[in-house]
Amino acid sequence: MTVYGTRPEAIKAAPVIKALEASDALDSITVVTGQHREMLDQVSEIFEISPDRDLDIFEHGASLSTIVARVLERLDPVLEAEKPAAVIVQGDTSTSTAAALAAFHRGIPVVHVEAGLRSGNILSPFPEEANRKITSQIAALHLAPTSTSKANLLRESVHADDIVVTGNTVIDALLMTMEMKTPFTDPALEDLADSGSRILLVTTHRRENWGGAMEGVGRALTRLAKSFPDVQVVLPAHRNPVVREAVLPHLEGLDNVTVTEPLAYGEFTRLLSLATVVLTDSGGVQEEAPSLGKPVLVMRDNTERPEAVTAGTVRLIGTDEQRIVDEVTSLLTDEAAYRAMAHATNPYGDGRSADRSVAAISHLLSLGPRPADWGTEGNP
Ligand code: UDP
Repeated sequence: MTVYGTRPEAIKAAPVIKALEASDALDSITVVTGQHREMLDQVSEIFEISPDRDLDIFEHGASLSTIVARVLERLDPVLEAEKPAAVIVQGDTSTSTAAALAAFHRGIPVVHVEAGLRSGNILSPFPEEANRKITSQIAALHLAPTSTSKANLLRESVHADDIVVTGNTVIDALLMTMEMKTPFTDPALEDLADSGSRILLVTTHRRENWGGAMEGVGRALTRLAKSFPDVQVVLPAHRNPVVREAVLPHLEGLDNVTVTEPLAYGEFTRLLSLATVVLTDSGGVQEEAPSLGKPVLVMRDNTERPEAVTAGTVRLIGTDEQRIVDEVTSLLTDEAAYRAMAHATNPYGDGRSADRSVAAISHLLSLGPRPADWGTEGNP
């Protein structure tokens, strides 16, 4: 049984669900919690996944505790009725950790996809760093995307036998959707694609950036749009009203700024492939953009995804308004600085992470051999 509730979980769980559906040995049941609503349904649609159960917990402005309480309360009877052999959770959302706890309470083994990411700061990202650590305490199988995340788990005394390095399933999802060559539903984006203009693609939503930091992001974008009238700034705005109220008022009346609703995944990855520079506080985008050779400036002070920083395609720049303006300006004006960051690298996966994940789950259930770690001999 795979349980997921938000857009990023859906994107990263989808390839695993597809691989489970293709497996002879395992049956797949999908449960969505609806922690995000439209943004979640968009992803299920693209990957043609019809969830078997919908816990429908969404409520505007629900607190983290309400989300967790609702998942625990509504998932438990589903677990009792379905009696799954294992419950798969992805990542570090409130849905993910609450679902893991619900399964643990019923003695059902928990499989953690994207295990072992650590920023080292329990308050950042909030609440994700705590969520992922809690899930690590109760998971039976840890599917680590990289050897760095495996090392984090080993350091926390997780047994090596319970960890398999699979790569990150987001790269499977990215490669699957890039093949679809999705048309843009918003004609403004189709025009933009045809124009060949340079594009600054921006996403922002992190809870710890809410308020003053996000206002600063809005002001930085205004300044950049005015300084570079030939560059198109595109912001697919997150559904959260707190994010919208902080950023969008700054962007009104600027001809070269396009604010869109959240884009369907296929449209977003196509836009990513057209972007010149990516400015984001997203986790998933940090993993996807390096595969497409796009320089990424991350509006955070730390990251649980150090691999692309080491590879030189991602830079942490924080949320200071002036720093954002300076870093973007440098990439838009200094060709050497741009070339130094714009090279394709795949530290997060090779597109076959879901198959490795299903092999590891089969092994957990005594249905097959243990797969070798990704990146090791026998599994390059
Ligand atoms: N994404 C999308 N449409 C958008 C913006 C982002 O499909 O308009 C995708 C993006 O490709 C990435 C995921 O959503 O895979 C990231 O989600 P988000 O930034 O909300 O969460 P995080 O990755 O930070 O947990």
